[in-house]
Amino acid sequence: MASASAPIDFRSDTVTQPCDDMKKAMISAPLGDDVMGEDPTVLKLESMLASQFGKEAALFFPTGTQSNLCGVMAHCHGRGSEVLLGANSHLCLYEHGNLSTLGGIHSRQIPERSDATLDPVTVEKMIRVDDPHFPRTDVVCIENTHNVLGGVPLPKSYIDSLSKVCVSNNLKLHIDGARIMNACVAMDVSAEDLCENVDSVSICLSKGLGSPVGSVLVGSEDLIYLARRQRKACGGGMRQAGVIAGAGIFAIENNVERLADDHARAKAMASVMKSAGFVIDKEPQTNLLFFGVPDGSKLMQEDVIARADDAGILFGGGYSGGTRCRIAIHKHITDACVKKAGEVLTDVATGF
Ligand SMILES: *Cc1c(COP(=O)(O)O)cnc(C)c1O
Repeated sequence: MASASAPIDFRSDTVTQPCDDMKKAMISAPLGDDVMGEDPTVLKLESMLASQFGKEAALFFPTGTQSNLCGVMAHCHGRGSEVLLGANSHLCLYEHGNLSTLGGIHSRQIPERSDATLDPVTVEKMIRVDDPHFPRTDVVCIENTHNVLGGVPLPKSYIDSLSKVCVSNNLKLHIDGARIMNACVAMDVSAEDLCENVDSVSICLSKGLGSPVGSVLVGSEDLIYLARRQRKACGGGMRQAGVIAGAGIFAIENNVERLADDHARAKAMASVMKSAGFVIDKEPQTNLLFFGVPDGSKLMQEDVIARADDAGILFGGGYSGGTRCRIAIHKHITDACVKKAGEVLTDVATGF
């Protein structure tokens, strides 16, 4: 099967290109040296997000990896600190173990429950007592939406239950909110309300929001002061960064509500694939759809990926110990793309 038209790219919600209006916003953004605190566009983006999340301050980063790292380091006492996080979290799996290699921070991994949450009782049990044998527990990190467990949006009630544990044990609560706007849209809750009782959130502008680059950390003035120092140490102090922050402002102003369309298309895709025989463990609630081939099928995950690829439908595999593929819906995926992909995958499924 050869495809004449351009491939349809479901590999990630990071593959989007800035639209013409976003490029115009970048070109016309007023600029200054942000390391000197003089870029008005960066300052505007930071104050917009701080206020949307109900926090005192914010800091612009080149990537979510750096924003998570600097945020967590800023919360910790230093080398020999420990964070509690999910065993399937991005921080644990996909950030090069940087908490340990760069931060001197030990990460203690807790298996998530099937609904992508950490059990607050387990979290509390994992907190170290003051003893020279142990690292010092400083932070709990959660991910919202949770990527590899199904793009699951986690509700405020859950976040608040962890926050209680953190407050009573003198720990900080950090959210890797790479897709927090997807969570807000899916659950119809404001960012301020959802994140009321957390100490920091890292937000990606370059995922579903469609910016070419950028993440923002929000938190208290004190936290952001420390995170700014860590950002400089990591080489993340950028000069006329308003040229990319301008894209971020455009994304926040124009691309949040439309995430609901991505979520609807993920559901539509899931229902076609289910009829075709793919195993969909969880109905998608946001823009990510995870699936497997039926047990005992002749086709392996690699065959499905390769056959779809030949027909111009791109997506990746390797999730959940190599048994699951992922389709990511984003702003370039139209209803027509979903229809085409559904036809191709229904075709591929005849090989089951
Ligand atoms: C993409 C992502 C990040 C950060 O990624 P960068 O590529 O460094 O911007 C962090 N957490 C999650 C869940 C992500 O999906």
